[in-house]
Amino acid sequence: MRVHSLCWFLIFFTCVLFGQEPTDPKATEDWSRPPVIVTPVETIWPRPSDAFVLLDDKICAWSKLDGTPIAWTNENGVITVKPGTGNIISSHKFEDCHLHIEWRSPVIVKGEGQGRGNSGVFLQSIYEVQVLDSYNNETYYNGQAGSIYKQQAPLANACSKPGEWNVYDIIYKAPKYDIKGDKIQSGYITVIHNGIVIHNNTLIHGTTPFIGYPKNPVHRGAPIMLQDHSDLVSYRNIWVRRL
Ligand code: MG
Repeated sequence: MRVHSLCWFLIFFTCVLFGQEPTDPKATEDWSRPPVIVTPVETIWPRPSDAFVLLDDKICAWSKLDGTPIAWTNENGVITVKPGTGNIISSHKFEDCHLHIEWRSPVIVKGEGQGRGNSGVFLQSIYEVQVLDSYNNETYYNGQAGSIYKQQAPLANACSKPGEWNVYDIIYKAPKYDIKGDKIQSGYITVIHNGIVIHNNTLIHGTTPFIGYPKNPVHRGAPIMLQDHSDLVSYRNIWVRRL
């Protein structure tokens, strides 16, 4: 671990240890080490025979948070954020799983930093794998595409150009709680972005808030959630294998 990275973690864990909750969102930004930029190879990911389909040209197993139909646009199995209509959740709940999801940021580049092609894939609705147009777009490293938001920068920046598809394969091990509500096992996540491993069994410290530190609410199985961050991000070919 490099010195800058070590310093950042020491500050992070010292503050967590002594319960000093920051009110400034910049307090949890990591600018210590830029992830290496990797040019992805073009990959085709055939769907396994036992995959649980959440989105294709026939199935759209998503709803608004209140269970009503989504207002995002759906054109032949490509759904696109309709800004202001809110996050959407899968119609089924998951714990340990392999999630395959493809996403695309808008071809017309608007904004910068966190304001460019921002969305997110939330495991169990509370742990965000960031979706962001990180092609020639600098932001804090634990907030760029593929980060575990505000916790862990990706090992590499494998982002496709704006308007081109990205693929996330997420292997997720959910945190476990006993009957009293005590956490007995942490969550872990491995993420492959466009064929490049960007998380290798990364520990999930807790929720992934914009402001403040991770929290550990007791939960069981929960839907996958996709974020409306007001940018025209699209998704296609989403499937899950329970593990
Ligand atoms: Mg996001």
